[in-house]
Amino acid sequence: MNFSTLSGYYEKLEGTSKRLELIDILSKLFKQARADEIAEICYLIQGRVAPFFEPIEIGMAENMVAVAIARAFNKKKADVIKIYRKLGNMGKAAQELSRNHKSQITNHKLTASEVFEELLKIAKFSGEGTVEKKVSTLSELLKKLDPISVKHVVNIPLGTLRLGIGGPTVLDALSLSKNHDKSFRPILEDAYNKTSDLGFVAEIFFKKGIEAVKNTKIIVGKPVRPALAERLPSAEEAIKRLGREFAAEPKFDGFRVQVHLDRSGVQLFSRNLENTTHAFPDIVEGVKKEVKAKTAILEGEAIAYNPVTSEFLPFQETTKRRRKYKIEEMAKKLPLVIFAFDLLYINGKDITLKPYRERRKLLESIVSKNGGVVKIAEEKILKSAKEITEFFNKAISEGLEGLMLKKLDSPYVAGGRGFHWVKFKRSQAGELADTVDCVLLGVYTGKGKRTEFGVGGLLVGVYNDKKDEFVSITRLGTGLTDDEFRKVNEISKKIKVNQKPARVNSDISPSYWVEPKVVLEIQADEITRSPIHTAGRDKDGSGYALRFPRLVKFREKDKRAEDATTVDEIKKLYNQQFSHHKTPTSHKASRGKVIDKERFL
Ligand code: AMP
Repeated sequence: MNFSTLSGYYEKLEGTSKRLELIDILSKLFKQARADEIAEICYLIQGRVAPFFEPIEIGMAENMVAVAIARAFNKKKADVIKIYRKLGNMGKAAQELSRNHKSQITNHKLTASEVFEELLKIAKFSGEGTVEKKVSTLSELLKKLDPISVKHVVNIPLGTLRLGIGGPTVLDALSLSKNHDKSFRPILEDAYNKTSDLGFVAEIFFKKGIEAVKNTKIIVGKPVRPALAERLPSAEEAIKRLGREFAAEPKFDGFRVQVHLDRSGVQLFSRNLENTTHAFPDIVEGVKKEVKAKTAILEGEAIAYNPVTSEFLPFQETTKRRRKYKIEEMAKKLPLVIFAFDLLYINGKDITLKPYRERRKLLESIVSKNGGVVKIAEEKILKSAKEITEFFNKAISEGLEGLMLKKLDSPYVAGGRGFHWVKFKRSQAGELADTVDCVLLGVYTGKGKRTEFGVGGLLVGVYNDKKDEFVSITRLGTGLTDDEFRKVNEISKKIKVNQKPARVNSDISPSYWVEPKVVLEIQADEITRSPIHTAGRDKDGSGYALRFPRLVKFREKDKRAEDATTVDEIKKLYNQQFSHHKTPTSHKASRGKVIDKERFL
């Protein structure tokens, strides 16, 4: 496919914010794509030259791109910046210059694959002279493109190609392109959950057909979308779901790590599928020494831990390890322990379909018993509500977050909930039984004292996974400390956009919108019905809202926007509020304090 054809589709995608139209346009694009270019096209429409988990960034700042544009169209950098200021988008500035450029090549025949290759080359330059190489390669590329293509290509390295296309939209469009309906979506989604790589799945689909997609196995080096936990209001409810006997483990309040091990070494992936290997050299070394397997994929929760006192450190300490600089220094100061809780792959075999009890046995057999970095999460096999409460109280008294209950015969469901895992978290009197992971949608600029922070309040939403859109659920004006306001300001300045993003559905408008990217964990007292918010809005126009919301923590480093709480989960939480006889909220729990027995009984 010629790149100019692809950029014609970019134009159309940019012109709509309706999901069904996006799917329709994308499916037409896919219909025109050959099997050997579909993967590249899938990455390019998301503004990438690799799947999201690969740390391949084109890495060009505005200044560098401006120099490349100037060089391509015989202008000065200052001229480019001037037009950019006027038009508000570097791509549009480049398009205008390209249009007016006399010796513009008219024979636009670069293919999508050729442009992909050039962008990939730019991403991979390293060492001496990198800046010059990136600038000259980009400027040469721009010279060979038509003005519309120029616009879109410029937006790719800058990360400003905002077409609002999420994974589910691509999967629907792939199905539609080959099958005239969306019926292949669940199969494609299953393969995507196992590999987190849309391009990879699309290529199998186009080259080998849907049966081959069905047989996709997990692969060392491609992060598996993590299995998720459900909430239930009481221990009795949990027992009904989990069977006569079930496993219970402490819920550690750290961050999830997926460890991939093979001959080439160890790679680590975060909850949101980012490759975080470089950030945790202590875990990498620990895994090499303490995990006895040729190849393996295991999961655990990393938490700062004091081995001398066996004390778990609070999340605020653990999270200091998620940094870009002074990594080695912090690794010494605040060593992490990873509490391993699942094994997905061992010595060449995908074992996600084996029952949990077998996976756990295999996990125990490969983790060294007296290692200092990788430890097996404590597990008890329980049968009654009383036992759950006792173990829960023990976990809370040790400073942990609560319990995870797991069905013994369940498979590992990549990217899925479904009552194989049930979480119980501690909560204070009068609070919702769980926190809500919200997506930052927009910012109200500050008034009075708040002007200093640049932020006076936030508009946040939850995710409607059925429609792949973000819907508003609350405004947050108090409930943040001064430092938190400052941090929100810092984050939101970087993701500010000029208009409501395509995937946001909200009736109320903040002072400015942001790209739906950042997840904030929020505690509220209650979920109420509200005519203002669009979360779960029914025919009567009433949606859900959070009452007295306050920020618990920023989760921008471990959850993607699509991992936020869903509308369906909000509905469940709302309904659980009314089963008061079962909802254990009549006490105050705090770290180190044993909770009264009524909690789950
Ligand atoms: P939540 O993010 O509140 O939905 O809780 C699920 C998260 O708890 C998982 O993604 C893990 O990061 C974390 N977690 C802590 N301990 C465990 C455990 N024993 N088993 C599974 N997940 C755990």
